[in-house]
Amino acid sequence: MTSPLATAANPLRVAIIGSGPSAFYAADYLQKQSGLVVQVDMIDRLPTPYGLVRGGVAPDHPKIKTVTKVYERTAQAPGFRFFGNVEYGKDLSHEELTAHYHAIIFAVGSASDRRMGIPGEDLAGSFPATEFVGWYNGHPDYRDLKFDLSHERVAVVGNGNVAMDVTRILASSYEELVVTDIADYALEALRESKVTDIYMLGRRGPAQAAFTNPELKEFGELAEAECVVRAEDVELDSLSNQYILSGEDRNAERNLQTLMRYSIQGNLGKKKRIHMRFLVSPVRLIGTDAVEAVEIVHNELYQADDGTLRPRATDRKEIQPIELIFRSIGYKGLPVPGVPFDSKAAVIPNEHGRIIDPANPQSVKGEYAVGWIKRGPTGIIGTNKPDAQESVDQLLADLQAGALLEPTNPAQEAINTLLEGKGVEYVTFAQWLKLDQIEQARGAALGRPRLKFSRISDMLEALHQVKDSENSFAD
Ligand code: NAP
Repeated sequence: MTSPLATAANPLRVAIIGSGPSAFYAADYLQKQSGLVVQVDMIDRLPTPYGLVRGGVAPDHPKIKTVTKVYERTAQAPGFRFFGNVEYGKDLSHEELTAHYHAIIFAVGSASDRRMGIPGEDLAGSFPATEFVGWYNGHPDYRDLKFDLSHERVAVVGNGNVAMDVTRILASSYEELVVTDIADYALEALRESKVTDIYMLGRRGPAQAAFTNPELKEFGELAEAECVVRAEDVELDSLSNQYILSGEDRNAERNLQTLMRYSIQGNLGKKKRIHMRFLVSPVRLIGTDAVEAVEIVHNELYQADDGTLRPRATDRKEIQPIELIFRSIGYKGLPVPGVPFDSKAAVIPNEHGRIIDPANPQSVKGEYAVGWIKRGPTGIIGTNKPDAQESVDQLLADLQAGALLEPTNPAQEAINTLLEGKGVEYVTFAQWLKLDQIEQARGAALGRPRLKFSRISDMLEALHQVKDSENSFAD
């Protein structure tokens, strides 16, 4: 007879796919359940953990990245293992996971982006902001992209914090960037950048902007760039005015004060300008081989049935010459092999994190979603903590109810044997910590906080060298 599940003789084996914040919060919450013996295997297709904390958070926001210290502690828990450089769907199938684990948690985030759906969107020079973010952060998928920064005018579409990050990085000076962990090739490309004018295009007004006030204030602190806001753009319509006066949105109030300050500061004579435009939407990208201009329509706001203020096109249009454009209108989840997918919402369909197949509600067992692939691409890093806990609570309820998966081969080492048998060179957490040290040491040699590896082959090669030197030391 097998011992009860989640005991020393029969540990609860959980696979977490992905290693961003939601993955670590799920692991942490599971590991903190008193009286339960849990073994977590966290699987990531990159050799490096932390998802968007490494590949998304702006390099000039180092404080936000210190959250990885918390994740390092989670990784020290008994039973926790990291399998980097292992791709779910390629190196490990859904069937293999169900044969080895009692539960599977998908924490894969939102790997794609939303499109504007306008003519000319695929012209050369038009990119999703997510690619630029991955590029400057040294993400292996994006490191070889080329952005032509030899032009002066760039548009950034969207009013979220990703749009703010992209705009700020484009507007920063070399001195501001060299002290960050921005990828070395991006640092050099931005040093040579000829960009002088960045147009941020928000489809609604300043009172509805999604960006937060600290990010807006940062624009006013840039060494080489100033923020240009036209007086007419901070004039509120009566509905927005009522909203601000209601006092229910402190962020919007602060944003408005900051924007008013920018609008009256006059010309500061700096080298670069961030033009913040509101109530405008791109309707067409114009160009023969590459983007030469964006056609913009002016919007007005109306109150939708749900009470929110939505944008509506007017007949006023203008053409703004630009040579590069980044759409920053939201990330988008992609289907995950072996799991149901809601293509409209671009998430895995779930009830409080328990994955369901709407066509056949009883068909999925022992599988959960956390983070952006569960709720969509919103919220700050900390939002993922309660989000992950909610999903793990479903898992724990299913454990109590005896409703988890029944793996045929739950032995911990079976996964290592399986991967080794396939020739998959997986990276452990201890090896990641070595890579982390090497990156920091390479950075320190240049007076920088870190010099990231941005190719998987270089990461593996560095680990081989560590192994060789440890072996020769032991000889
Ligand atoms: P976001 O905050 O959801 O912002 C998306 C922006 O795109 C909004 O301004 C939205 O306008 C606009 N938009 C959507 N569809 C559009 C369209 N068709 N045309 C024009 N504009 C359109 O998304 P995000 O900037 O990608 O950020 C994702 C999440 O990460 C957010 O929760 C964000 O706060 C977080 N994040 C935080 C930080 C930080 O804390 N420093 C940094 C980066 C990201 P509407 O409002 O009109 O829909």
